[in-house]
Amino acid sequence: MVKAVVFDIGNVLMDFGWKAYLEKQWPDDPAMREELANATFLSEEWQEGDRRDMTAEEWTVRYIKNAPHLEKEIRQICTHLRDIFSVYPYTRSWIRTMKKMGYRVYYLSNYARTAFEQTEDMLDFTEEMDGGLFSYREELAKPNPDFYRLLCERYDLDPKEVFFFDDLEENVEAARRAGMQGVCVTNDMMAREMSWYGMATGEESVMLKVVKFGGSSLADSGQFGKVKKIVEKEASRRYVVPSAPGKRNKDDIKITDLLYQCHDRARRGYDYHEAFDTIKERFDGIISGLGLDISLDDEYREIEEHLGKPDARDYTASRGEYLNGKILAAYLDIPFVDAADIICFDKNGVYQEKTTKEMVSAALSNLKRAVIPGFYGADREGVIHTFSRGGSDVTGSIISGALGADMYENWTDVSGVLVADPSIVDDPEPISVITYRELRELSYMGAAVLHEDAIFPVKEAGIPINIRNTNRPSDPGTLIVERTCWPSPHVITGVAGKQDFVAVYIEKERMNDIVGYCRSVLNVFAKHGLNIEHMPSGIDTMSVFIHRDEFLAKEQKVLADIQTAVDIDHLELENDIALIAVVGRGMRSVRGTAGRLFASLAQAGVNIRMIDQGSSELNIIIGVHNQDFDAAIRAIYNVFVNGKNS
Ligand code: ASP
Repeated sequence: MVKAVVFDIGNVLMDFGWKAYLEKQWPDDPAMREELANATFLSEEWQEGDRRDMTAEEWTVRYIKNAPHLEKEIRQICTHLRDIFSVYPYTRSWIRTMKKMGYRVYYLSNYARTAFEQTEDMLDFTEEMDGGLFSYREELAKPNPDFYRLLCERYDLDPKEVFFFDDLEENVEAARRAGMQGVCVTNDMMAREMSWYGMATGEESVMLKVVKFGGSSLADSGQFGKVKKIVEKEASRRYVVPSAPGKRNKDDIKITDLLYQCHDRARRGYDYHEAFDTIKERFDGIISGLGLDISLDDEYREIEEHLGKPDARDYTASRGEYLNGKILAAYLDIPFVDAADIICFDKNGVYQEKTTKEMVSAALSNLKRAVIPGFYGADREGVIHTFSRGGSDVTGSIISGALGADMYENWTDVSGVLVADPSIVDDPEPISVITYRELRELSYMGAAVLHEDAIFPVKEAGIPINIRNTNRPSDPGTLIVERTCWPSPHVITGVAGKQDFVAVYIEKERMNDIVGYCRSVLNVFAKHGLNIEHMPSGIDTMSVFIHRDEFLAKEQKVLADIQTAVDIDHLELENDIALIAVVGRGMRSVRGTAGRLFASLAQAGVNIRMIDQGSSELNIIIGVHNQDFDAAIRAIYNVFVNGKNS
């Protein structure tokens, strides 16, 4: 588990812009600039100056010896170090955020006394850190392993729990040899990651964010108040995508469900008024709670006219978002853009990506801000179509992609994706950064946060998604990115699983030699439309894991077809298997992960039925009995996140 982060300073937390300095001072003399660079910054003496404590004069004279005819210029450089160093705009907020995330934060820097003396006030950000070492004081410098060791000793750090950032590969390598995890970074990479976190990079004013608010974030006027504060807090939050009002408490009914109910009842000729009145009351309650001077009576009438008409189911369902969008636009006092005009479907309800992109950018690029309701769009004839349930996530993602947003913020009622299911593990931690691929692995195993289709439009455009909590807006939430140098604090990023799988276990002597054996077996499953979840195999054995519900109805036919398709020595069925995915981009680089995982399960008395490590080394799938499912997830969480040894 990563507990501490260690930063190099030059080119990571502070710009060390010597090239720019030389160019500015001696713009017309590239040859002299080269000589100066070789005599100073690029010389062996420069590095030695980091490793030894010496006075300014001693330090300067050594460079002059390298190029005596340039004494004047060298003296100028050595007395103007303040013009060469500058603190990056993101440095302080980054340190603060890391601390807020619970990491201890240190520096390990090759820095000369003279440079220190001239830039001491700029280095005041180090006071917010938990400590660190400057090379000149210790007379040791990177990549000398003793320097890393000294840092760990002084601050009682276990190298295994340290993550190290440096702009030089050689220093990162040395950190790895010292037992730390590390990554080589460039400062623009840092700035980009920082901006994803909404941290001060000085670029906020030009950033563009699409912000989507889920149903619970807009369930009543109190929630609308929170949303307004969030939107108005950052000028970059320019395009707002609302869902329909969701549940205010667990017994409440979502507006979308009520709308479906109205339509279905009307269609079957039943009275729908009770549900319809509830819908009107909810919206009118929000309007009056916000003190707005608007009426939706015309809209209610129009919806009622459509209720029960053959093609109007999607239209009716979409009105929750439509009406909520109208209210939100009035409340935020920004334009309302109807999704029916910009999100395009064909007449069969298939989403049209290309036209949508064109329409979205044409309609929104000259609007500084707008509210666009989620969940629906329309075909050429103006007939409304919706995405599948939860589809406002998709709208937000499409708009982000089409506008090339810097960030897609998805505001909901949890502080991000959790490391494990809260119904199994008490108060699990949120994941701070997760990659799209990791998220897909976890979502597939049931960790639902986002509509599955919401990933693709932003992933394609390289836009990160930030899951945030409307009720706790200062929580950083989870950042979902394509790739990241951000360490996962616990080796594993998350753990999730599903129960009720069946394993079909087949044995055949010399299976290995029979060309096409596995394929013949798999064809049988394909023929019956069964999706195969996992297929671990041995030399003479193969097991096929499928969902029990899907399998049971077709069981006898499938077994009979397998017997006909291939020759079998032995076939066995096991029907109460749960699959657990332990997911983490960091697992590949940390030795002993599988060992810890299996030891924790053994300790918890869980019998492992199957192990399958994905070839990406991003996940390890384990099969256990259904009855061991909860215990296994808890054991894995405990060993990796709580650091409890098995
Ligand atoms: N209101 C729709 C639903 O309940 C869409 C959404 O909330 O994203 O599914």
